Amino acid sequence: MAENSHKRVIPVADQRPGTLAVPASALQPATLLPANGLLNDTRGRALHDLRISVTDRCNFRCSYCMPKDVFTKDYPYLPHSSLLTFEEITRVAKQFVAHGVEKIRLTGGEPLLRKNLEILIEQLAALRTPAGQPLDLTLTTNGSLLTRKAAALKAAGLNRLTVSLDGLDDAVFRAMNDVDFPVKDVLDGIEAAHKAGLGPIKVNMVVKRGTNDAQILPMARHFKGTGIVLRFIEYMDVGATNGWRMNDVLPSAEVIQRLQQELPLIPLEAAQPGETAQRWGYANAAGAHDKDAGEIGVISSVTQAFCSDCNRARLSTEGQLYLCLFATQGYNLRDLLRGGRSDAELASAIAHIWQGRQDRYSELRSAEGPAPAGDGKRRVEMSYIGG
Ligand code: SAM
Repeated sequence: MAENSHKRVIPVADQRPGTLAVPASALQPATLLPANGLLNDTRGRALHDLRISVTDRCNFRCSYCMPKDVFTKDYPYLPHSSLLTFEEITRVAKQFVAHGVEKIRLTGGEPLLRKNLEILIEQLAALRTPAGQPLDLTLTTNGSLLTRKAAALKAAGLNRLTVSLDGLDDAVFRAMNDVDFPVKDVLDGIEAAHKAGLGPIKVNMVVKRGTNDAQILPMARHFKGTGIVLRFIEYMDVGATNGWRMNDVLPSAEVIQRLQQELPLIPLEAAQPGETAQRWGYANAAGAHDKDAGEIGVISSVTQAFCSDCNRARLSTEGQLYLCLFATQGYNLRDLLRGGRSDAELASAIAHIWQGRQDRYSELRSAEGPAPAGDGKRRVEMSYIGG
């Protein structure tokens, strides 16, 4: 398969980065910052979304995320005692919500591998924004366990979800997930989620040139008119183990061009500020958006960086707060949680950290190229920080 044919430079084992200390001023009574529902960073970007990784383990070995030769059975996954408990996660999430977070996405690793995840969902679903509204609570999954779990997730209070699927051709998909997992089981999982009343459902397809780009049109044809929003993601240089090369990236502009040859599209307005995907609607014969046919999205982190309105924070599996998907270090919130700090101190720590945020990795990558490997600043793996 072309997927594994090029030479990759892979470290013997991933090393988890050190942590950043929470600024001391955040915890001093004179400089405590209370939550007022509105928090901006140094570039004026509001805090709106929180992604929470609930496990660093996955049952797939997608080469662009958790390549088999690095994530072996001997890989030093986090021990259970390092993981935030559901109570700890909910306590942190509550402070984020008080600061203005309205959307929480559970991710990983594969979040459905975390035992009793429904209990966490119940706890998060009970949180309310300062305006008294429930959260937009969602989850990203590879779909492998959905047929078994969709109804329980819905009953626990999950609103909607995103399923990752990199192609409809069984051989291509089995090679990409690298554990021989069949397409049909993911499609059955999507169907189960739909039947359980989870929606709207989104499907994410990471596009790798020469590996699954022939799947772009079949995927679009399959999901057009189903109410499921298909999103094409540019292959990103996240982490340090996937051997990323620019040549493997198929720019979103080319995805749109290929689709347009058969399925006319028109650009749509963003539904929300800070949205990761650019939306395109299927056009009818008059050139207007055919709402029954639906829409697709493209996520172009590599060719069209969207740092300028990035409103996302990330909580790693062991309670490190990351301000960027491409960060090299996170802030240790777990020490605060386990060190007897109050909710007010926790909220203040989050506020000080977000207010000091400067990250804009993808914009710098566009200007200067990817950060060189071996620069002593190894980026964290997506399976650890959460996709
Ligand atoms: N296991 C879950 C899943 O498969 O959706 C959640 C975690 S996964 C890290 C989240 C998303 O990140 C998936 O849609 C995956 O395809 C995407 N992803 C992982 N590595 C990527 C990369 N290098 N470039 C672009 N997307 C990537």
